[in-house]
Amino acid sequence: MNLDKLKPISSADVKGKRVIVRADLNVPVKDGKVSDATRLTRVIPGLKDLAARGAKVIVLSHFGRPKERNTKDSLKPVAETLASLAGMPIAFADDCVGDVAVNAIAALPFGGIIVLENTRFHTGEEVNRPRLVEAMAALGDIYVNDAFSAAHRAHASTEGIAHLLPSYAGPLMMEEINALKSSVEAPQRPTAAVVGGAKVSTKIPVLTNLVAKVDKLIIGGGMANTFLQAQGVKVGKSLAEPDFHKTALEIMAKAKERGCEIVLPVDIVVAREFKAGAASSVHAVGDCPDDAMILDFGPKTVAHIAAVIETCRTVLWNGPLGAFEIAPFGEATFALARQVAALSKAGKLVSVAGGGDTVAALNVAGVADDFTYVSSAGGAFLEWLEGRELPGVAALAR
Ligand code: AMP
Repeated sequence: MNLDKLKPISSADVKGKRVIVRADLNVPVKDGKVSDATRLTRVIPGLKDLAARGAKVIVLSHFGRPKERNTKDSLKPVAETLASLAGMPIAFADDCVGDVAVNAIAALPFGGIIVLENTRFHTGEEVNRPRLVEAMAALGDIYVNDAFSAAHRAHASTEGIAHLLPSYAGPLMMEEINALKSSVEAPQRPTAAVVGGAKVSTKIPVLTNLVAKVDKLIIGGGMANTFLQAQGVKVGKSLAEPDFHKTALEIMAKAKERGCEIVLPVDIVVAREFKAGAASSVHAVGDCPDDAMILDFGPKTVAHIAAVIETCRTVLWNGPLGAFEIAPFGEATFALARQVAALSKAGKLVSVAGGGDTVAALNVAGVADDFTYVSSAGGAFLEWLEGRELPGVAALAR
């Protein structure tokens, strides 16, 4: 995939054109009300810009995981919230293809925005069925994908349609790809990757891809326990996966071969219970009591990681260092978050973080805004870290 072939929609003439924008309006809704509008506020400037440049803006999105058409998964309340946040009327059509959509779009003036109903109300969406793809493409002159978070799926509205219309990347898509390019594909060196979280088994492709690319690989969370145990270190009752000792040792061997430094804890915070306020103590890494669990890294490890980060120019982060949701086991994660944020703010570091738990931890630490880029795309972000080609991006980069 040649990312240089991506065309930003900002470079296209859209005046008098029907522009189909694949956005990600899949926001959390509680009791019929949008409970977190972050995705909506981010997508609005791009939509308004197209409208201001004289396009008819036709928004496609999935919402939830409906098996069939139903009221609960309708995008209508989301479209209403979008309109009130945008401060302008936004039309809505009860279907994303067919006469209902065609007529609603015909009635929309240039300079207007319309949201079409949930693409997943059609079974053809997820199987990328040609008939649905053709019906979607018939609605517009130009296709814009501005939903990086849905680009790991080869669906009708994320991939199929890009083969039938002149296709462009939207501003959010460009922003995300530029951030990932500058941290994974062509980073300023030295680069560090922080890969934490619960289990090695869920992140083997991420570790395998990154160990071949970065200069320092900081392994956190329950995953570090598996790496320690694989080397014969006692981890008591900690979360660990003995079935993945071999994988851990292979990753360490690969790191050694290419001169990538693997950073594991030298001291640990342990507790006998996995609950808030549980009595905890700090031990050297080999001294985990048999009846205790490692739930965070100790102060010496925090200082060591800080020294490693100090030497780096780029940091990529997915997964917490400890069980940060439960006090006091978030200290190592929060300390690293504060340091990376401060260095980024001072212009000394490019920092890109992503994944639900990681973003939650940065928000708890109150430093998300100081990172160079925080990705809200869960699955797509991880697949990019795995080095996989995202079908929705590849279709734009042909
Ligand atoms: P993941 O979804 O794989 O990124 O894992 C995130 C989860 O890992 C969070 O809920 C953390 O609480 C958990 N976690 C991090 N460190 C540990 C640990 N040492 N023991 C158990 N769970 C952990």
